[in-house]
Amino acid sequence: MTSDSGPAPLPPRRGQKLPSGRGPGRPPAELLRRLRARHATDPVTHVERVPARAGEPAAWPAWAPEELRAAFARRGVVAPWRHQAEAAELAYAGRHVVVATGTASGKSLAYQLPALATLLTDPRATVLYLAPTKALAADQLRAVAGLELEGVRPACYDGDTPRTEREWIRRHSRFVLTNPDMLHHGILPGHAHWSGFLRRLAYVVIDECHTYRGVFGSHVAHVLRRLRRQCARYGRTPVFVLASATSGDPATAAGRLTGLPVAAVTEDTSPRGGVTFALWEPPLLPPPSVGEEVADLVSVRRSALRETADLLADSVVEGVRTLAFVRSRRGAEVVAANARRALDEAVPGLGDRVAAYRAGYLREERRELERALLHGDLLGLASTNALELGVDLVGLDSVLICGWPGTRASLWQQAGRAGRSGDEALAVLVARDDPLDTYLVHHPEALFGRPVEATVLDPANPYVLAPQLACAAHEAPLTAADLELFGEGAKEAVDSLVEAGALRQRPTGWYWRHRERPEVDLRGEDGAPVCVVEESTGRLLGTVDGGSSHFLVHPGAVYLHQGVSYVVDSLDLADGCALVHAEEPDWSTHARDVTSLSVVSVRSYVDAGPVGLFLGEVDVTSQVVSYQRRRIATGEVIDTRPLDLPARELRTVAVWFTVSPGSLATAGVEAADIPGALHAAEHAGIGLLPLMATCDRWDIGGLSTALHPDTEAPTVFVYDGHPGGAGFAERAYRTAAAWLRATRDAIAECGCETGCPSCVQSPKCGNGNNPLSKPDAVKVLDVVLANLARGNAAQASPAGAAGATGSDEATDGGPAGSGEATDGGLRDAAPGGAAGGSGAAAGGGSREAALPRQDGRASERTVTGGSSTPD
Ligand SMILES: [Zn+2]
Ligand SMILES: [Zn+2]
Repeated sequence: MTSDSGPAPLPPRRGQKLPSGRGPGRPPAELLRRLRARHATDPVTHVERVPARAGEPAAWPAWAPEELRAAFARRGVVAPWRHQAEAAELAYAGRHVVVATGTASGKSLAYQLPALATLLTDPRATVLYLAPTKALAADQLRAVAGLELEGVRPACYDGDTPRTEREWIRRHSRFVLTNPDMLHHGILPGHAHWSGFLRRLAYVVIDECHTYRGVFGSHVAHVLRRLRRQCARYGRTPVFVLASATSGDPATAAGRLTGLPVAAVTEDTSPRGGVTFALWEPPLLPPPSVGEEVADLVSVRRSALRETADLLADSVVEGVRTLAFVRSRRGAEVVAANARRALDEAVPGLGDRVAAYRAGYLREERRELERALLHGDLLGLASTNALELGVDLVGLDSVLICGWPGTRASLWQQAGRAGRSGDEALAVLVARDDPLDTYLVHHPEALFGRPVEATVLDPANPYVLAPQLACAAHEAPLTAADLELFGEGAKEAVDSLVEAGALRQRPTGWYWRHRERPEVDLRGEDGAPVCVVEESTGRLLGTVDGGSSHFLVHPGAVYLHQGVSYVVDSLDLADGCALVHAEEPDWSTHARDVTSLSVVSVRSYVDAGPVGLFLGEVDVTSQVVSYQRRRIATGEVIDTRPLDLPARELRTVAVWFTVSPGSLATAGVEAADIPGALHAAEHAGIGLLPLMATCDRWDIGGLSTALHPDTEAPTVFVYDGHPGGAGFAERAYRTAAAWLRATRDAIAECGCETGCPSCVQSPKCGNGNNPLSKPDAVKVLDVVLANLARGNAAQASPAGAAGATGSDEATDGGPAGSGEATDGGLRDAAPGGAAGGSGAAAGGGSREAALPRQDGRASERTVTGGSSTPD
């Protein structure tokens, strides 16, 4: 521990040279005490002490060549930690392995060791390394090149690689670093050029593999199967070595990703300093004053951005090197700017010790900022997510996390930047005004001492599988054996491609019929992105993903870009272009849409008496039909203007529950309040789902209705906002009891009277957060939970009666009355899937609410002053 207990250093005065070098390393408890003391009411809801850990070194494996050991020793590695050695041994023995341990635990050594040892002992062998970002691959290149091993010739091969160098790399590099996009677009389609490399491929390293989740993860899973297929054609079966942040059940996730049996090494044996972890809830605001925009959402708390900026400034004043994680780029800029301003007001010049750090910067600039922070020239940095940061940036005095980063895995990844070995550090999670953040700072047990989430991906998604099989067929005709490789659903997908005329079936297999390659984007959004162009100058301001364009850049929309306000003149969907002009009107625009949902099929269900729980396919049809203009100052609606935009359809996977009107009446929910009760439960349920699935609130949509024609009952739907589903609704179904329990508690425990953004209001409601009934939502969820628990108890599973988590996995196979649906309480809904405006028929005593309420990524975003970011 460095010097501490002395008085705070005096901030430097104007003209005085600013102190350089590290901060004084004030002990975290003392720093936290000072930060807390600045508030009238204590913002800290919980303090968790994460103890220091001593490292467990292991011997170098006997097979590691002396040359390699010496190279690592030059870099300061005298011996591996035990987890590194274990993973390396498995890989060297030919087992596929995933090492899933914390930030800065030295995962790279775990794959470098077997990979480089093999390259040194087998002069023909090659290694392919995949990173999710080009920056990470460049970092890794630097690390491997720095070992200066003879004959390895590491090289990055990505979109930035000059054409003139590509040929050389293919022929001579034995350690090629790239990303899944390049593998998909470049290497696999051009496999003939890579045959020499592939036929000698010993290892495939997949770094940061937990980032391959959702739809993107499902695509990458098939890119890897395509890689395995090409290797097999060249007579090679490489060993896969994966590195993951700490994640739940990494063996299963890595197995889904690669399609191979994978062993997991999860025990982190590297040393680390202790961390004091505080949960921080910004204070309540006085009631909104005139002149503040309130729109649909009435904030009751100080914003997390402002609070984080203050904490950053305060930490800098204390001389503590602090990294603040902020979810959006703009948020990072705002935090840095506010902290700088506050510091300059206190001491002119002190603001220079704080900077923002984000993806748009060049790598050299970013590394320079990191270096400045590590050396103490900078004391504060506000950054977007952890992946963009260099691997060396660890050992900070303090980390601020502005808003729940979405998963416990990311939380630990970010907090892991704090704490040098032997030194104490502070981490603070600052809650945003939203149900999940609020729930978490009041339920530390949901954060600490619980396993981190599993990475969710669904390779069987037909919307991923079919285009990937088309790519595979373009690379080489598909055979029956290939269908096995691509797994569940492959045969159906191939049949659909034949039917669509993309593939031709011959006795020897399935052949791609076209000259051109299929166009498939791994990170594809729904629809091509729309360019936002300033008409007078032709300048491209930015892009909006296709799914959001109807909401954000419809004609007349106020669009905010980097703090400048524009008004949209026209939206050309065919050209994917919105023309705008700079203008700062005193209103904001809010798109409205109508959504209907019809059930296509039911995959699985639980019959729990008056309650039903379902998982299945649905068709969601939505159309942006109008927008409101509202005065920024007062929120007053100026007018509603019609829009002429086409309807859009989404076939996806949903989880839904039904509750009989009788049981609701018994629970004290009046018929007239059912729409508001369901709507509120739906909002909170969407807000809390990221607790269970590795998704974002914006990845999922919802719809609630007092009477749905397909279920003939009051129903709440929550669906994946991606075509074909991304595995989130499935996860919600499997963890329904725990998910809905957390939802219920979040609503019941919120201190507000009638609902707020921390519980039942949604930042993206298509119905203006109306109607909402907070107390009735609790009653609805109580009915659902009681009946689900009873249903599961009847199944006599040992922990069946336990509320929160006992019934987690039970819904899926076991309980009486569950199983593949043939009839199950559900009228078999329009199998053809023609979405027949079903939702609009919602009756059930709803008053103004003739339309079902929805919240869909693909269906709406409320534009407040042009910004779509939640913060
Ligand atoms: Zn509330
Ligand atoms: Zn809503």
